[in-house]
Amino acid sequence: MRALVWHGKEDIRCDEVDDPEIEHPRDAIIRVTSCAICGSDLHLFQNLIPAMKPGDIMGHEAMGEVVEVGSGIAGKLKKGDRVVVPFTIICGDCDQCKRGNFSVGERSNRRKDLADKVFGHTTAGLFGYTHLTGGYPGGQAEYLRVPFADATHIKVPDGLSDEQLLFLSDIFPTGWQAACSARSSRRTRLRSGAAAPTVRWQSGAPSCWERNR
Ligand SMILES: [Zn+2]
Repeated sequence: MRALVWHGKEDIRCDEVDDPEIEHPRDAIIRVTSCAICGSDLHLFQNLIPAMKPGDIMGHEAMGEVVEVGSGIAGKLKKGDRVVVPFTIICGDCDQCKRGNFSVGERSNRRKDLADKVFGHTTAGLFGYTHLTGGYPGGQAEYLRVPFADATHIKVPDGLSDEQLLFLSDIFPTGWQAACSARSSRRTRLRSGAAAPTVRWQSGAPSCWERNR
C-alpha cells in the first residue's frame, strides 16, 4: 500500500509499504476513503516532539470501510461498515475509559512505560503520533489497522459525505472539548489560538455547558 511516511525533520514521503494485518482478535482493518492533515501534524513535520522514528506512518484523522475484523470483535463491527476512526485508541474497559477520559486510557498505549515517565501519567495509544503514544501506524495511508476496534470506532450512516464526517475523528471533538473547558455559551466570544476551524464549529450551536444546565 501507499502511505505517508516520516523520514526525519521536514521529510515526509509517499512510500510503498506492507499492508497492515490483523495482529490481535480485537483488531479491524479499514480501507481508508478519506484522511486529513491536522495542524498538530506540523509538530511532527518539524520534529518538535520526540520519539518519531524513520518509517513511521503519519495521520490521525481517517475514515473508511471495514475490510477485515478479528475474531474478538463480537459483532460490534462487520465488513462493509463505514466508520470514522478517532485519534485516540480506546480500550473501553479501563477505569479512565469507563469515566469517559479516553485520552488518558490506561491500556491502549503499548509504551505506557515511556509515557508515564515523560508525561507523569500515560496517554492512551494514539494513531500516527510518536512512540510516546505507542508508535501505532497512522491513517494517512490506503489501509489502517485499528486496535481495540470494537471500541475505537464511530459508525456513520450512509447519506452523509466523508467531508461532512471526517472531522469527527479529531478537530470537532477537540473544539467541543475546548468550548466545554472554557465553559463557553452562545453569548461567549471565542478567540482561538488554534487552526480556526476547530472553534468556528462551536460559536453557532448552544454549548454542551448550556445543554447540561
Ligand atoms: Zn481504556
